[in-house]
Amino acid sequence: MQAINPRPLYENEGTEQAAFQRAVIEQLKSDPRRPKSFYLSTMGCQMNARDSEKLKGILLSIGAREVPEDQEDLVIYNTCCIRENAEQKVYGRLGYLKSVKRKNPGMKIVLCGCMMQEDTVIEKIKKSYPEVDLIFGTYNLYRFPELLQTVLETKDQIIDIWDKQQEIVEDLPSVRKYSFKASVNIMYGCDNFCTYCIVPYVRGRERSREPENIVAEIKSLAESGVKEIQLLGQNVNSYGKGLENPISFAKLLEMVHQIDGIERIRFMTSHPKDLSDELIEAMGKLPKVCPHFHLPLQSGSDRLLKAMNRHYDQEKYLNIVRKLKETVPGISLTTDIIVGFPTETREDFLETLKVVREVRFDGAFTFIYSPRIGTPAARMQQVPEEESKKNFAELLKVLEEIGEENNRQWLGRTVLVLAEEQSKNDSTMLSGRTPHNQLVHFVGGPRLIGQMVEVTITETTPFYLIGKQKNLLD
Ligand code: SAM
Ligand code: SF4
Repeated sequence: MQAINPRPLYENEGTEQAAFQRAVIEQLKSDPRRPKSFYLSTMGCQMNARDSEKLKGILLSIGAREVPEDQEDLVIYNTCCIRENAEQKVYGRLGYLKSVKRKNPGMKIVLCGCMMQEDTVIEKIKKSYPEVDLIFGTYNLYRFPELLQTVLETKDQIIDIWDKQQEIVEDLPSVRKYSFKASVNIMYGCDNFCTYCIVPYVRGRERSREPENIVAEIKSLAESGVKEIQLLGQNVNSYGKGLENPISFAKLLEMVHQIDGIERIRFMTSHPKDLSDELIEAMGKLPKVCPHFHLPLQSGSDRLLKAMNRHYDQEKYLNIVRKLKETVPGISLTTDIIVGFPTETREDFLETLKVVREVRFDGAFTFIYSPRIGTPAARMQQVPEEESKKNFAELLKVLEEIGEENNRQWLGRTVLVLAEEQSKNDSTMLSGRTPHNQLVHFVGGPRLIGQMVEVTITETTPFYLIGKQKNLLD
């Protein structure tokens, strides 16, 4: 069972828009046509997960309850478009929902998220999926109450897609997945235009939130019992640059560090090109900042890094790693890697493996390159799928070997685990994370969820650790 914080949290940036949407929520609460149940499916990254917390907050506020099957009053797919197979999954699901809606014609189908910002997707849905009731994008999520009300009043398909963000509106209900840890957006969008990536086209230009608003939100989270904060942005290292009073990400970390009640601070994602010495020093001197750094490599080949428009080379990346390891001894490093980027040769791939072996990553999100229409890389010379798959399998094997060796060093050591939930396959076990972000399973009851628990590691695998509560061992 998931720990749910049932109290809707109101974020701090009040605007007229937010007040209007809150008034619509009040009206919907007493509207007999409102959905009584909803199913929400979230695909993709932490940004989408955070957006879904907002959608869920709105739906719970109007009195709808969440259900585990996409067959009842309202079905929402919060979509991702980072790779093509994420999109295929949505079309597959829509095919299935067609038949469900035939049996339950009152059901409303809603699509939102990154995929909806693509013109080709909207055309296809308009043409082939008339049973979809509402489509909106990433910039106008806050209008969901108003759009939902419109859907209840018409049989037409409603499409509301904006091509850019007008204003940051956040003063709306949001229900956090956990009551003891929370993600907080510090910025939206991305200006980097890596040549393979669709994010800047579907999430827009980089926009930072004011530090005072971020701090106020985290203070209110801390007061409600949140111990761990994850600061979210596509490139947190360039946080604050566009603000009227520019401020660095390291300074923001210092401000968050001062908040009573917050015990752990994490952040993602850091782009190597903007990583400052100031941030590395802050990591060394702020004990609440966890000793874990997610630093996407993408490729070890200088030629490909250039073609990807990443603005760093292998040497710069390894220098950052060296500084991080010196400043925060024992730091855990994780990364993102793409295999099969256009024109990748075996030599390019071997450069990636070289960096992987040198850095000895504790974990990696690995991707086979997927061409995204409209991005420059989709027009470059593609590499045979068979080659990419072979290299990808080799990369996974090397990462697994390293993960196993890294994790073995934790055998017998005691770590502080923030217990998050009961394990999926065994209800006598709890799962949680260490400061280094390792996943730990240990025997324990649900009353420990949300607590910091001392766990001694008794077994290791390449991907997670198994342990026993220290006080039960003594
Ligand atoms: N902003 C983050 C950064 O630059 O590190 C990453 C955000 S993106 C949602 C997560 C990861 O998806 C990227 O780091 C990249 O490895 C992967 N990715 C993005 N576009 C891709 C594509 N077209 N094919 C395969 N993987 C892709
Ligand atoms: Fe995509 Fe690059 Fe921006 Fe990350 S930094 S979101 S990979 S364009």
